[in-house]
Amino acid sequence: MDLEWNGSWSKKAHGYFNEIIEIGATMLDENMQKLSGFHAMIRPVVSKKLTNLVTDLTGIEADELKDGVSFEQAMAQLTKWIGNDETVLLTWSNTDLLVLVENYRYFFHQTHIPWLHSYADAQAYCQSLVECEKGHQLGLSRACEMLDISHDELTAHRAQDDSEMTARVVAKLYDAEKFAAFLQPANQEFYKWLTFKPYVIKDIHDPSVKRGYLSFRCTACHRRLRPKKDWKFFNQHFFAEMQCTGCNKEYTARVQIKQKFDCVAVKRKLTEKVPKPAEPETITQGEN
Ligand SMILES: [Zn+2]
Repeated sequence: MDLEWNGSWSKKAHGYFNEIIEIGATMLDENMQKLSGFHAMIRPVVSKKLTNLVTDLTGIEADELKDGVSFEQAMAQLTKWIGNDETVLLTWSNTDLLVLVENYRYFFHQTHIPWLHSYADAQAYCQSLVECEKGHQLGLSRACEMLDISHDELTAHRAQDDSEMTARVVAKLYDAEKFAAFLQPANQEFYKWLTFKPYVIKDIHDPSVKRGYLSFRCTACHRRLRPKKDWKFFNQHFFAEMQCTGCNKEYTARVQIKQKFDCVAVKRKLTEKVPKPAEPETITQGEN
């Protein structure tokens, strides 16, 4: 499945809301053969004006959406199309799924998607199987090129064509055993994981802050450093002036501790303090 959405300010949500304007989906059977496609244009109600970003990216004009269906109607059609068979939802990165959850919450006051039974992030799955530059996200068009999948007749950044491209990439790389590791049942834990926002820990006494995160050793003599004063938090980091218990060398230690869903990420940096040059002695001359 692929979605296009328009970001706008919502009075009701007291914040920014990503309103879905187009849904596209492609259904594959267990042998990765295409069964059918789904497409719906949605008439926006939060903002009828589309941002330039959306129009430039998708080519969708506000006028086209006037004939669209409501989000409620689109979801009813989609649910019918999915049917009662056991299905797995795939999206290219989980952003689309997050937006879908956001729209369900907004329009239906539901935190769970009723037809969703299990999910897999197609991008994460494909990225685990193809050589990709470290730290880079694999784009959908790029994946097609790398895998020699023809997509000339498809328009990128339109929901139905993007879903078709996703289907072709997944079909090409499908391996039942490897894929199984990426399957997530849509249970309570899944929604918790999906909506969890990592945050930087600000309180040094937080139970997630382990002693070891804040302990450093002298780069010269390898003895333990002791903080000269208490750790201070600012600019998303803990800072402390430290001194070696052996050779008295002085340092500044910087630590960032980030709480993620199932782990804590710690970034540490130790900088040696360059001793200030001694102030030149000033001799005050008397008047006389
Ligand atoms: Zn030392």
